[in-house]
Amino acid sequence: MTTTANFISEPQGRVPVAARADLLVVGGGPAGIAAAVSGARNGLSVILLERYPYLGGLGSGGMVLVLDDMCNGAEVSVRGLCAELIERMERLGLAVSPPEADRRSDWAMWRKWSRWGVFDFTAHVKPQPICYSVAFDPDAFKRVSNDMVAEAKINLRLHSWFAKTIVEDGRAAGVIVEGKEGRQALLGRVVVDATGDLDVAASAGAPFSEGSYIVTTVFRLGGVDCEAAERFEYEQPEAFAAIDREAKKIMGGSWEKWWLKTPLPGIVWCNCPHMAGYDGLKIADLTRADFEGRRRIAQLVEFVRAKLPGFRQAYVVDVAPQLGVRQTRLLDGVYVMTKEDVMTRRHFRDSVARGRDYYYPYRSLLPREVGQLLVAGRHYSATSSAQRMSREIPPCMAMGEAAGLAAALSLAAGVGVEKVDIAALQQRLRAQGADPGDVPAPNATIDGRERAA
Ligand SMILES: Cc1cc2nc3c(=O)[nH]c(=O)nc-3n(C[C@H](O)[C@H](O)[C@H](O)COP(=O)(O)OP(=O)(O)OC[C@H]3O[C@@H](n4cnc5c(N)ncnc54)[C@H](O)[C@@H]3O)c2cc1C
Repeated sequence: MTTTANFISEPQGRVPVAARADLLVVGGGPAGIAAAVSGARNGLSVILLERYPYLGGLGSGGMVLVLDDMCNGAEVSVRGLCAELIERMERLGLAVSPPEADRRSDWAMWRKWSRWGVFDFTAHVKPQPICYSVAFDPDAFKRVSNDMVAEAKINLRLHSWFAKTIVEDGRAAGVIVEGKEGRQALLGRVVVDATGDLDVAASAGAPFSEGSYIVTTVFRLGGVDCEAAERFEYEQPEAFAAIDREAKKIMGGSWEKWWLKTPLPGIVWCNCPHMAGYDGLKIADLTRADFEGRRRIAQLVEFVRAKLPGFRQAYVVDVAPQLGVRQTRLLDGVYVMTKEDVMTRRHFRDSVARGRDYYYPYRSLLPREVGQLLVAGRHYSATSSAQRMSREIPPCMAMGEAAGLAAALSLAAGVGVEKVDIAALQQRLRAQGADPGDVPAPNATIDGRERAA
């Protein structure tokens, strides 16, 4: 080896097998938690591994604090493990959602609820309807995830960075992780990639495409007088608009409502600043994004403390430990979802999960060319534009729940994951409280190509 070379060769060493199980789930975000719990509750021994010291992925470490895209008008379209997580956070007093009577398009309801972020962001009417969405606390997400994983007796291994997929005879057989103990092997009869960045499938050689989207340095502010801020917004709309415009200019990019309430009094979450041109897989980009995000946040705080009523005492409570990366690698799987599929609410005969009003076919969780591997979450098989519209936390959990159960059905039947009995999968998902979307919603279309297939 020479220090002037561009590459060095790693010695091939022996790696200890730290654990083995029926199901190995890589990534402890919303999709991974759901896959692991679903697999374990269906009788599998399960290993769940995660690089960070907590569960929840972008839902906790990314401080994405509204569960949305889970209702089709009045119908709640994502249930199952996602509903259970919500109920458990509600019991802790750390999740808030509008009651049914308030879910409509109405200016009084808008004033009451829109600063909770619980409105239909896809609606074109004004005001956008208040709908079933849930504002929650990130630490509650972690605590409840811990409880669900512990109760299911899952072998949880935090602090474990996925490094490489072990592929044997064309099928995923496990992974190598890196940690304080060095390299370790973890083996599974079925592997679920829930890394969000498709790390496992890409390493296994499954085809994928590379997408990108804005990234965000999410943060929370404390010491905010929300009542005073809202009074100013509604009673002095022109003065408010001028200050709001200036704040948005400092951030460079944000949604219309850049601060939202949380279940903790006086603490608001800020889903901003949005920044373009960063690759969520590149170390240099991730580092630069952190610097740009924090610089913009510091400027914004100085500005709102000086100018925005309700924010005079505001201070930064925390900046999300994980940069908000929305899209990187996307599986190029057995079926690739398109924007048209999402927009026309195309129903598939092998639908196993739903979002708001669109469906995920089982084939969009199935890689080509690698056996005994499933994916679940934001890197599922979709075009970049389709994924942008179908990547929220509740549907990612629904995909995970389907993948965990599919692993159990595959092992029980002694067949590869690509041969799972779809009707049984849909029926069992329904029995465990999930909505696989196996009956098309009234506003769904059925693809002609699909019918012929
Ligand atoms: C800024 C922002 C705002 C958003 N707003 C909303 C919103 O308001 N509502 C909503 O519902 N959704 C929102 N989303 C989308 C949503 O948060 C994600 O799409 C969703 O969390 C995806 O879940 P996932 O489990 O697929 O991936 P992730 O949440 O990314 O979880 C992946 C997990 O895998 C782990 N992992 C990754 N690589 C490795 C590795 N090499 N080794 C070990 N572990 C690894 C990660 O640490 C993480 O825990 C937002 C996303 C962003 C970025």
